[in-house]
Amino acid sequence: MKRDELVFEILQKEADRQRYGIELIASENFVSDQVLSAMGSVMTNKYAEGYPGKRYYGGCQHVDETEQLAIDRLKELFGAEWANVQPHSGAQANMAVFLTLLKPGDKFMGLDLSHGGHLSHGSPVNSSGILYQPIAYEVDEETGLVNYDRMEETALREKPKLILAGASAYSRDWDYKRMREIADKIGAFLMADIAHPAGLIAVGLLNDPLKYCHVVTSTTHKTLRGPRGGIIMMGQDFDNPFGKTTPKGVIRSMSSLFNSGVFPGIQGGPLEHIIAAKAVAFGEALTKEFKNYMKQVKKNAEVMAEAFVNKGYNVISDGTDNHLMLIDLRNKFPEITGRKVENTLVLADITVNKNMVPFDSRSPFQTSGLRVGTPAITTRGLKEEHMPIIVDFIDQVISDIDNEDLLEKVKKQVNEMMGAFPMFAD
Ligand SMILES: *Cc1c(COP(=O)(O)O)cnc(C)c1O
Repeated sequence: MKRDELVFEILQKEADRQRYGIELIASENFVSDQVLSAMGSVMTNKYAEGYPGKRYYGGCQHVDETEQLAIDRLKELFGAEWANVQPHSGAQANMAVFLTLLKPGDKFMGLDLSHGGHLSHGSPVNSSGILYQPIAYEVDEETGLVNYDRMEETALREKPKLILAGASAYSRDWDYKRMREIADKIGAFLMADIAHPAGLIAVGLLNDPLKYCHVVTSTTHKTLRGPRGGIIMMGQDFDNPFGKTTPKGVIRSMSSLFNSGVFPGIQGGPLEHIIAAKAVAFGEALTKEFKNYMKQVKKNAEVMAEAFVNKGYNVISDGTDNHLMLIDLRNKFPEITGRKVENTLVLADITVNKNMVPFDSRSPFQTSGLRVGTPAITTRGLKEEHMPIIVDFIDQVISDIDNEDLLEKVKKQVNEMMGAFPMFAD
């Protein structure tokens, strides 16, 4: 068959965009060559509905091996008793857990979306907000930190069936212990969605949610640096409290209910090529090199936050414990929206995303903030000394936002700087 030049030329342009730009989107990363080749492998040809050893199709002996390897490595990485590696994405992982633990109309509680929460934590346009009844908790306006006292008040009043920790734009660690105490007071499940900081948690740089949460979900493509996908884990399996039994009358464990929640609950055939790549990525995450990588991600974020503060920017909560920070532009540039900054920086080959800040006066389409993260540039090999240079590029552009000559000049410097770094530095 003739090679599809049209598509592969576009792929080459995307490779160049990634290679020569500064990637600061906090949810993105660059995978290793071996993760990439597992994704582009023959495993995509295989149907494997079911789980290792219990499939609805023949010929599953090898996908069973890679899926079991992915499960075993993931369990080792987080010290989990049980794991499911089949969710196609982070949002799917959350959907499967909600389907398993909640009934339509049930209340659950998550971080307000405009305070850093995720679409799948109760947005009115997502299944989580359409099928269930979301109640929000918030960060404190003064400190930018989750207000656990107010969370407790709201929980005691509203009595949600489930409380959800985790966010997409929150730069501080979580008090899972306190949240478990709150959940226990009302008999609610505690769930953590660690889609963003999973890599940092895996190497012990942040609090461990598996110790306190009934269930933990994550993506695999953010700090964990694997293929795009989702996972579900439990620190410890337990008997389901719903009285659901097997045909033999045995009470089913939560692990078996969660497995059913993923398949057949919300998905059909698993993406076995992606699962093979997850196995590779979890293997990488178990190495000393990955731990060093995560330490550098965190160090880079600290130094970058400091550099923004030194230039007079308002970094929400005054810094970061993890790989990202949220910048409120309103004190320094009251007239400039996050959207304008995002759209302008991209012309200089710097990619960030506009983001609502807590108590934002603008809409989600305009926003007053930026979210910036260091996982991707750290994979490229950038160190502390590069962070002030990047902040300086960004500050120059925002300070003279309609200056096209300046944009051209910054873009040239960005391309020169990044051309010297590989896509995946070892
Ligand atoms: C990114 C993210 C997700 C969703 O992941 P997808 O793979 O895009 O579906 C879920 N929860 C949180 C907190 C996230 O940041």
